[in-house]
Amino acid sequence: MKKEEFSQYEEEVIRLRRHFHQYPELALQEFKTSALIQEYLEKLGYQIRHVPPTGLIAEHPCMQNREKLVVLRAEMDALPVQECTGLPYASRHNGCMHACGHDGILASALTLAKILAQEKDFPVAVRFLFEPAEEIGEGTVRMLAAGALDKADGGKADGFFMFHYACDQPLGMAVHKGQASAMIAKMEILVKGRSSHWCQAEKGIDSIYAAALAAGKVHEISHAYVGKGPHVAGIGTIHGGEYPNIISDQVKMVGNIRACYEEDFEQIKKALKQAFEEIENTTGAQVCLSFPKDPVMPFANDPVLTSIAARTGQEIFGSHFLLEGEDELFLTGDNAYRYYQETKGLFCVFLAAVPGEEHPFHHPKFQIDERILLPSVQALYQIMREYA
Ligand SMILES: [Zn+2]
Ligand SMILES: [Zn+2]
Repeated sequence: MKKEEFSQYEEEVIRLRRHFHQYPELALQEFKTSALIQEYLEKLGYQIRHVPPTGLIAEHPCMQNREKLVVLRAEMDALPVQECTGLPYASRHNGCMHACGHDGILASALTLAKILAQEKDFPVAVRFLFEPAEEIGEGTVRMLAAGALDKADGGKADGFFMFHYACDQPLGMAVHKGQASAMIAKMEILVKGRSSHWCQAEKGIDSIYAAALAAGKVHEISHAYVGKGPHVAGIGTIHGGEYPNIISDQVKMVGNIRACYEEDFEQIKKALKQAFEEIENTTGAQVCLSFPKDPVMPFANDPVLTSIAARTGQEIFGSHFLLEGEDELFLTGDNAYRYYQETKGLFCVFLAAVPGEEHPFHHPKFQIDERILLPSVQALYQIMREYA
């Protein structure tokens, strides 16, 4: 399709986005969202596979028999946030809001699906994933278990595409060269001492003192460690102690380590373990570091897809296309790393700040500039076509 022809879809992509925005649904409860997507796509001739409870995988029969298959992921869930934008199409569901831009992602994915359904000679097959529960980290595993990346011949899809809208910069596009997401590991620090009345302090082991030393070390190591890429370690909660005149026998601290590269995570972990051992030797308390869940792993954009995205981005957005290094990487993670573990991936960030309303993700006033929607559809279309 020619550039000029995209404009005929502008009204529709905005209408769809506003609809999703007005009727947000929380993770794993995206039933109406899912039903609407299914109805829209079936009318266009797509075949739908369900991924219970609300996920969908859609493919068009006219796109079979292509050499390459690319997969596009669109997230469906909203957040338990009370919207305060005052927009005429604000959420009609109390305490629930599309405050992460998934409304725009859904609208753009459907618009792209519509364009491709009419384009019988598009050179690659495109499969659409409508993924539930991204915000609670549960959707990706379900989609993959349902064969989201599997090809009929037993191989894996040739490319995985994901995209997001970011609202800190005016209209444009950004792609990370190399690392595109961080590793995140939740850490628990359990400090065990021995309780005693403070009048017999020599009989006790003060877990609060040991915990304070440990918290100090987390901060110190996070700042002093020089790694391959950006990183941080920090504590978010601390709980301990029962009574003012009793030496506390236990403190629990929970926080996280975030790093662009796994090796930095490993080094920080090692430094913390060493520091905690020293605290154990000097205080007599036990300081145990543990990671209760599997970490979210980092992922990196494929170099071939990145260079196609850079060419396309410059063509559509001019100087508002940014090829970003790891210094610009947010230390956020995404379960989409699981897709990247199975095939080559590309993460496109479309910049969509509304001037004067640059609120962070998940904020009750989060907004996206709708003028980004159609160019983002065009960019994805062109990258996919060139990847053929
Ligand atoms: Zn998302
Ligand atoms: Zn989010």
